[in-house]
Amino acid sequence: MPSTDTHQLLRHLPGVDHLLDKTREDDRFATMPRQVIIRAARTVLDQLRSQILDGLNPDFDDAAVLSEIARQCRQTLAPKLVPLINATGVVLHTNLGRALLTQQALKNIQTIGESYSNLELNLSTGKRGLRYTAVESLICELTGAEAAMAVNNNAGAVLLALNTLAEGTDVVVSRGELVEIGGSFRVPDVMAKSGCRLKEVGTTNRTHVKDYAGAITEDTGMLLKVHTSNYRIQGFTASVGLKDLVTLGKSHKITVMEDLGSGTLVDFSAFGLPMEPLVSHSVAAGADIVTFSGDKLLGGPQAGIIVGTKQAVEKIRANPLTRALRIDKLTLAALEATLQLYRDPAAATKEIPTLRMLTMSFEHTCQRAALLEKQVQKVCGAGDIVACADLESRPGGGSFPDLRLPTRCVTLIPKNMSVATLERRMRLSTPAVIARIENNRYIMDPRTIQPGQETLISSTLETILRTS
Ligand SMILES: *Cc1c(COP(=O)(O)O)cnc(C)c1O
Repeated sequence: MPSTDTHQLLRHLPGVDHLLDKTREDDRFATMPRQVIIRAARTVLDQLRSQILDGLNPDFDDAAVLSEIARQCRQTLAPKLVPLINATGVVLHTNLGRALLTQQALKNIQTIGESYSNLELNLSTGKRGLRYTAVESLICELTGAEAAMAVNNNAGAVLLALNTLAEGTDVVVSRGELVEIGGSFRVPDVMAKSGCRLKEVGTTNRTHVKDYAGAITEDTGMLLKVHTSNYRIQGFTASVGLKDLVTLGKSHKITVMEDLGSGTLVDFSAFGLPMEPLVSHSVAAGADIVTFSGDKLLGGPQAGIIVGTKQAVEKIRANPLTRALRIDKLTLAALEATLQLYRDPAAATKEIPTLRMLTMSFEHTCQRAALLEKQVQKVCGAGDIVACADLESRPGGGSFPDLRLPTRCVTLIPKNMSVATLERRMRLSTPAVIARIENNRYIMDPRTIQPGQETLISSTLETILRTS
């Protein structure tokens, strides 16, 4: 039973209508949608009421209540998907949006997004066209494939290809290739959802052609190879190359598919990096179908690219599931513009942010670190310890699993707060700065910090260090 004091307080709470009248004369609310203000006013009053019922004595003069309503409105109206600074050094960071798009891709999204387009119109015949036409010949040119299409993402591409080409049959896969990638994509689960029966062969570390051959029965519909894009099996190992699998498949008239995951169109070994499988190699090896991601090593928008024989790709296009997984026109616009750059691999490595960051030399990271260190020094106090340290960046995103890229980082140990507090406050700033902590140091890796972001980082740091 509320006491008399509580009753008194509750009676004096301002009414919603009174508060809403006040907001009409208040500039802070001038451009805010009415329904957002109304909802915030009700919430604030509810909160005050429950505080009073809890025996508290909150401040509820008009000014205080209106400030709280304004604060809640600003919070509601603030965008939730926001850009941030990736200082982690992980290039393809799944939680941070994977690949950054090229300027060309961004421009094309605007061009196609703000206008009607020939998305599904064949301009020469005036008849209905296919949305894949925009990228098909280009993908074929870059990979050597006969036919190509693109869907929502590579998980979708795998599901679609399996469902179309192997539903109701046994699909033979090596035990060493039953990949799980983040976000609960597991090869066995996708296999089940696509209506195929998984037939595992070999052992975790060793699989031979005779294992595949021994598993083939009249129920076999496909031999599948999965690129172990996010792990490596090392030591006493053996796996069957795609070429041998294709030979085996051909002799039994069985479809051979490869899921490359992070498939690439440029030879990274030309930049001193290890070899990641080239899509063109898998096509040349004779796979009927090869699938790969648009936003891993390709450095484009989220998409799943399917290349292969005309017969297999046409079958996939005719699958009703294709409609459910189809690529959006904005993605297609970005994908076409990204792929265009690959006609000149040297230009591609300069212009495509993912490739630029992956191939950034150690010397270049040293220059960038020196610049960042200078900026950070400027805003730090006498007791804050700023230094450079030679560490390692990671490619991330299910590519180059065991590769570490040498990099020079800027490290900071603040005097007046813990490193964990610094990390949290940087993360909660606008723009958020995401970095890592190692050996009790706050570490910023210039590899993934975009040119020009150094000043944003230092001004954010300045604010945080000053208010510690
Ligand atoms: C990443 C990956 C996928 C899924 O690709 P998305 O584009 O993320 O849907 C599938 N298979 C392999 C081997 C992968 O590495």
